[in-house]
Amino acid sequence: MRIGYGWDSHEFKKGLPLKVGGVELEHTHGLAGHSDGDVLLHAITDALLGAIAAGDIGTFFPSEDARWKGADSVVFLRAAMEQVHRAGYMVANVDSTLILAEPKLSPHAKKIQARVAELLRIEPNCVGIKAKTPEGMGTDNAAIAHVTVLLLRRANKPRARMTAAAHAKRGARD
Ligand SMILES: [Zn+2]
Repeated sequence: MRIGYGWDSHEFKKGLPLKVGGVELEHTHGLAGHSDGDVLLHAITDALLGAIAAGDIGTFFPSEDARWKGADSVVFLRAAMEQVHRAGYMVANVDSTLILAEPKLSPHAKKIQARVAELLRIEPNCVGIKAKTPEGMGTDNAAIAHVTVLLLRRANKPRARMTAAAHAKRGARD
């Protein structure tokens, strides 16, 4: 069993599309960044890579690399999921807190939850999406995301044939 933590922030700029958790939201401002600025997907990507001690998003996708200019951040998340898979793990659940003044995320939380669940190959009830406003932080022009993720060891084929008792014993050890 592994725990991972990720954090990210991006600045709002007028006229850019706003993407949060792989979902495009209607808003006057979007998040600036080398890629599409999806603050939630970046924090999830870092949490996944952190959980398996595989560096961070910049290790795999350096911001100075022109290939990632305006990139869909789903690409980064998929690459992190591939690393998680190769390391022998799968996602158990993820929790997140977004901090932003605008727009209100609660009307979109279900859609973001469903999209993130799909990308992480887990059920929506294993994805926590929480949003807060930046009270007293002076970060009204930024979106911030904090993410924790829990990984479980993937059962490979021989293990899949283990008895329930052996699984329980193994679970206790992991
Ligand atoms: Zn980012």
